[in-house]
Amino acid sequence: MRVLTREGGSLLGRLLDVLTIDAAILDAIVAHARRDHPDEACGIVAGPDGSDTPTRHVPMENAARSMTFFALDSIEQLRVWREMDKADEVPVIIYHSHTATEAYPSRSDIGIASELGEPDAHYLLVSTRDPVQAEIRSFRIVDGAVTEEPVAVVNASVDQHAVQSYLFGQSPTTVDYECRAGS
Ligand SMILES: [Zn+2]
Repeated sequence: MRVLTREGGSLLGRLLDVLTIDAAILDAIVAHARRDHPDEACGIVAGPDGSDTPTRHVPMENAARSMTFFALDSIEQLRVWREMDKADEVPVIIYHSHTATEAYPSRSDIGIASELGEPDAHYLLVSTRDPVQAEIRSFRIVDGAVTEEPVAVVNASVDQHAVQSYLFGQSPTTVDYECRAGS
């Protein structure tokens, strides 16, 4: 896994949003992706509305049970979204895994993001193509435009002051949906 300090990121990276996530939640997402490999895994991490802080990990079913595609189960989706509504939560992170390709949104992923209608969500992708090192990248997907953002991993459960920041994957770039080949 390429890990750079945020100071090594571009000026653009510092101006963009950052996904801040607790190490324990990130570990749980990667464990879910490993468990469902070679099928794609999907789920969300809910957090208090307006906080932009992911706190409650909800692993979900991949209704497509596919190695190249994911689809939320519509009944489960309704239940999970209702639970969030009741608790004044939003899906801060919507994640899924790629099991044979890079952690970058495919054309169908961008379509799913449009259907979900959650422009404030962080779209986290985990690639489990390497059996040892998971590749983790986070994106904003708004109006079909994909923008990568840095991921800051904090270890809140261990020591509030031991904050480490990482940039996974490449420097943030904006990629036009129409110019991107599907994967
Ligand atoms: Zn995908």
